[in-house]
Amino acid sequence: MFLCRSMWRVLRHDFLRHLFLAALLTVIPSLCFPRDSMELRKDPITRSWVIVGDDVERQAQPGYCPFCPGAPSAPQVIATLNSADHGAGPVTAMVHPAPLYRIEGEPHRHAEGIYDAMNTVGAHEVLVQSIRHDIELWQSSDAEISQFLQLTAQRIQDLKGDLRFKYVTMFKNHGVPAGQEFDHPVSELTATTFVPRRVLYELRASRDYYLEKERCVFCDTLGQELRNPLRVVELLNNYVALCPFASRVPYEIWIMPRRHESSFERSVTSKSGQLNELAGLIRRTLQRVMSISESFHLVLHTVPNTYQKSNILQYWKTVDEDYHWHIEILPIMGTKAKPYFLKEVYYTHISSETAAEKYRKLAIR
Ligand SMILES: [Zn+2]
Ligand SMILES: [Zn+2]
Ligand SMILES: [Zn+2]
Repeated sequence: MFLCRSMWRVLRHDFLRHLFLAALLTVIPSLCFPRDSMELRKDPITRSWVIVGDDVERQAQPGYCPFCPGAPSAPQVIATLNSADHGAGPVTAMVHPAPLYRIEGEPHRHAEGIYDAMNTVGAHEVLVQSIRHDIELWQSSDAEISQFLQLTAQRIQDLKGDLRFKYVTMFKNHGVPAGQEFDHPVSELTATTFVPRRVLYELRASRDYYLEKERCVFCDTLGQELRNPLRVVELLNNYVALCPFASRVPYEIWIMPRRHESSFERSVTSKSGQLNELAGLIRRTLQRVMSISESFHLVLHTVPNTYQKSNILQYWKTVDEDYHWHIEILPIMGTKAKPYFLKEVYYTHISSETAAEKYRKLAIR
């Protein structure tokens, strides 16, 4: 108290007092809203969010597998689904041991001059698809893959109940060049307070196409691909696997429902009868990919969180009609990679037609 009074007396002059108050006002916000070492920054030109910071918190791997049963220190379990398959063991969602996003707190989106930044609030989970350390998704039974799809759908629906989150997705990075983090066969799930850039491009483009034609661009694409199935790899009653016309990398392959469906999670929970068909197609597609390449990125693209009561709902007013969920798989062909082209203009040295033909000829059951 004495110190405060004597300090104030020192600041006799109005000018010094103003200077002191201004300095205090600059410091207060950072005291009230302490930031993580990482933050989200928005590129003012491309409008994409980037995680930036000096990453000191992500720890080195422990000397044991945290996802194998009986691990000395296992991550927190969020949800478990028992497998219908005898002896297959449960599929489990766990908190990521070194998460990119944290569930606590508010995003506190704020301006820094012309820039936008916010805290890395969100969810980052690990989906452990098997208790076995040596069984990958494509080596699992269709019943096990179905359980994994059901858990994924449940987690997405659950996280979409949190109105802070605008987008929830599942992805899998397999192999060192893909940035695989754990030896145990896992997939990951993130919930973010923003829609990631690639999905945002797709959502905007699908909406524009719908506004002009009143049709879903994915359904139209599918219609054309099925009329001349040069790029179709496998066609089932309800799902299809195909190499996209403008593949970004050699052997890029997508899995999508043949009839219009915007939401993966709604589809999986309401059509459990078709789940084995989808599971089988995912298994065979990944086996095909693994006979071509040792590593890949897999990502699920589904509708954004339309529970949002804000302008977002208005913004995505036609999303159920114009967007169509799909799974994208991008194999990594190490030796022929062209880093510049991959970043600026995609360069694919094997055409989608040749890739589809090669995939079809593989002996996969
Ligand atoms: Zn393990
Ligand atoms: Zn559609
Ligand atoms: Zn997509």
